[in-house]
Amino acid sequence: MLALLCPTCSSPNVQKLDLFWKALPAESPLRATYAPPDEVASQVLLALVATLAGIGVMVSGAILLGLLVAVGGMVFGVVNHAGVERYRVQLADWAAAKLCLACEGLF
Ligand SMILES: [Zn+2]
Repeated sequence: MLALLCPTCSSPNVQKLDLFWKALPAESPLRATYAPPDEVASQVLLALVATLAGIGVMVSGAILLGLLVAVGGMVFGVVNHAGVERYRVQLADWAAAKLCLACEGLF
């Protein structure tokens, strides 16, 4: 490893966080502390189905109920998409993070 120093304590004893975490034994209590962010699954299909179902209900006559279901499906899709994007950013940050083994600082 290149001369990578901890910005907090200047220790050269620095490791990539993802490699450190993967090397931890399964029973290590540190696994929870340094774990990657929880995955947010994409539910695009579910949102699409709800929206289409709402449109279907609307066409069948129950306009207000159908509108509610369709809008609910769209809102759910937008919220879910934002969650997936946030997860991707957090995972990239986690994968790029370095851990100082001297002062336990993350940077
Ligand atoms: Zn340090």
